[in-house]
Amino acid sequence: MQVPAQVEYEKATSLAHALALLTRYGPEARILAGGHSLIPMMKLRLAQPEMLIDINGLSELSYIRVADGELQIGALTRHAELLDSAAAGEHFAILHDAERVIADPVVRNWGTIGGSLCQADPSEDLSATFAALKAIMVICRPDGSRTVPARDFHTGPYETVVAPAELLTEIRIPVRPGGGSAYEKVGRRVGDWPVGAAGAAVWLAGDTISDAGIGLTAVGAQHFAAAEAEEFLRGAPASEESFARAGEIAAEHCTPSSDQRGPAGYKRHLASELTVRALRRAVRRARGEDA
Ligand SMILES: Cc1cc2nc3c(=O)[nH]c(=O)nc-3n(C[C@H](O)[C@H](O)[C@H](O)COP(=O)(O)OP(=O)(O)OC[C@H]3O[C@@H](n4cnc5c(N)ncnc54)[C@H](O)[C@@H]3O)c2cc1C
Repeated sequence: MQVPAQVEYEKATSLAHALALLTRYGPEARILAGGHSLIPMMKLRLAQPEMLIDINGLSELSYIRVADGELQIGALTRHAELLDSAAAGEHFAILHDAERVIADPVVRNWGTIGGSLCQADPSEDLSATFAALKAIMVICRPDGSRTVPARDFHTGPYETVVAPAELLTEIRIPVRPGGGSAYEKVGRRVGDWPVGAAGAAVWLAGDTISDAGIGLTAVGAQHFAAAEAEEFLRGAPASEESFARAGEIAAEHCTPSSDQRGPAGYKRHLASELTVRALRRAVRRARGEDA
């Protein structure tokens, strides 16, 4: 039987309380959100925190709202709540595309957006989604807060810029007119982690792409993004030729590795093909031709 090591537990009653507990217990303390990643890792002894700080009672961290020209998502928002959010779907269809294919209803009902991002699994769907949207992460510490671009949030597999006495509290996505977005994933079976996935966000000026964001999952893309492909797309016509070339560039710049989910060559092919599909659908949505 898999049994976690001995661990202390405390339930935070407010954000300030959670931050005070993190400060008091130091690097051996870990935040417990949905627990869908942390608890299995503890059972396998891949994580052995001495103190769990449960933030599930902090309703102040659970919200989805449009304010100050941004979509703002609290870190304790559950996957299922993001999937159900009309505001999220209206402004960024990519969020619903991604949530629809993350795990299963049981995981989505309890797993949180903040937990997914802080787990920093290279196969995590939301990391690429927020990279495509060029989101901003809000990180709080006892004496204030700071913001970090999504692309600077992850420092490596299972590592982020969140320091031991800090907490991710919010994700912000600027709402800009003329945009469309989409997420395309290939998994081995329904509800599984991706073999590869790509997300695209585009903004159009007539038939020209004025700005683009491309996120890649599980294919070894730097910062979960395809920056060179984005650069190519800026000012390019919104055409099949542009999508195809962007897909090629995205695939050229990623470094997939072979594993139980598939060989590196196949993942590179997916990076290209799924980038094309995501761009095609994002542009159709920007033109109001696709829901
Ligand atoms: C069966 C299964 C299938 C899955 N399939 C997929 C999939 O297809 N695609 C996908 O992307 N994901 C998938 N997941 C991952 C799932 O989405 C995440 O495990 C889960 O949502 C993580 O969130 P959590 O709230 O459970 O985090 P937890 O397990 O509670 O925490 C994860 C880590 O983040 C830290 N943490 C949590 N919240 C914060 C915060 N606010 N600030 C700082 N640190 C924090 C914790 O200390 C811990 O280190 C799957 C998981 C399971 C169990």
